[in-house]
Amino acid sequence: MSTAVAATEGVWTRVIGQRAVVEELRTAITDPTAMTHAWLFTGPPGSGRSVAARAFAAALQCPDGGDGTCHACRTVLAGTHADVTVIVPDGLSIGVAEARELVRVAGRSPSQGRWQMIIVEDADRMSESAANAVLKMIEEPPPRTVVMLCAPSLHPDDVPVTIRSRCRVVALRTPPAAAIAEVLVGDGVDPALAAWSAAASGGHVGRARRLARDEEARLARKAVLDVPLRLVSLGACMEAADDLVGSAKEETEAATEVLDGAETEALKNSLGVGARGPGVVAAARGSAGQLKELERRQKSRATRIGRDALDRALVDLAGLYRDAMVLAAMSSGGSPTADLPLNHPDRRADALELARRIGAEGALRRIDAILDCRTALEQNVKPQFALEALTVALRLPA
Ligand SMILES: [Zn+2]
Repeated sequence: MSTAVAATEGVWTRVIGQRAVVEELRTAITDPTAMTHAWLFTGPPGSGRSVAARAFAAALQCPDGGDGTCHACRTVLAGTHADVTVIVPDGLSIGVAEARELVRVAGRSPSQGRWQMIIVEDADRMSESAANAVLKMIEEPPPRTVVMLCAPSLHPDDVPVTIRSRCRVVALRTPPAAAIAEVLVGDGVDPALAAWSAAASGGHVGRARRLARDEEARLARKAVLDVPLRLVSLGACMEAADDLVGSAKEETEAATEVLDGAETEALKNSLGVGARGPGVVAAARGSAGQLKELERRQKSRATRIGRDALDRALVDLAGLYRDAMVLAAMSSGGSPTADLPLNHPDRRADALELARRIGAEGALRRIDAILDCRTALEQNVKPQFALEALTVALRLPA
């Protein structure tokens, strides 16, 4: 197999700021007889786990090791290759039915490509029984099958130890801001905006793209980072909690409205709802069940989108308090942290003001409160309650 494609060419150009990972994957495709059948891509959100998995899949199916231009490469990257299945959970979890279907597909011989490949994004969302079904398959993988799981970390909460021990692990790092900015400029973004978006994204490539392209995303970030200095009274805390919950809700509604409507319409059409004739009555009971199942999945997806939006806000807030903590420590000790990069370099003045008012210890306590809030949300505490408790804990001293 040719490996003429350099690390900076073809499908690998999509894998941003991960030189070591690209080298490892390029080496793996040079010897198909030694192919590992189960891979685990880990890395923080936005580091490009699934992007790396897709690039690897394309390089494996490509006769030229991932030139990025042939039919195999193009169809894999577009998600239409017959032998590459990508599971993207849009709800809160991947259930056992979905996992069994995945195992069934994995058992097929490749129809046109070299490998039958399955990519599972957010494999950390697999239920226990789903994980067991997948484990059974990777214990005795079919000879022409490659499975790639993507998860944030190797923590047992993300990936059961039994699965982890059977996978080859590829660890992505947070891509450096300069590498992200370079890609944005390549996409046609103005260099100054690209540099700002990359610096403000916290190393999350998708977030950087949204910040660069979308004025709404920039305004939403600003509203979140304005919160800490607003919290001067109990009333202000309640108002800020309302705002945070409200904007997550708006984002959820905007994202789900279009999806839900189209799906429900498509299902109704396929079930012949509204049709007349023999058999329609008999089918009605079954179709009610299917519509209910669709509604259940849509609700689960909406919960996830809302939770992700709130989580992004909390990560931004924690970043600002962390900046305040660093600046407070620097001003008191003149320590060698002087060159530590800030999470939100454009909000340095706010971080300094916070540092002055709450000190390093106060900032640390507020970061803890934010982590507690994330845990509460994961445990299904109502967002309004969790956020009110948080903003009160973040309140500025009089
Ligand atoms: Zn190709």
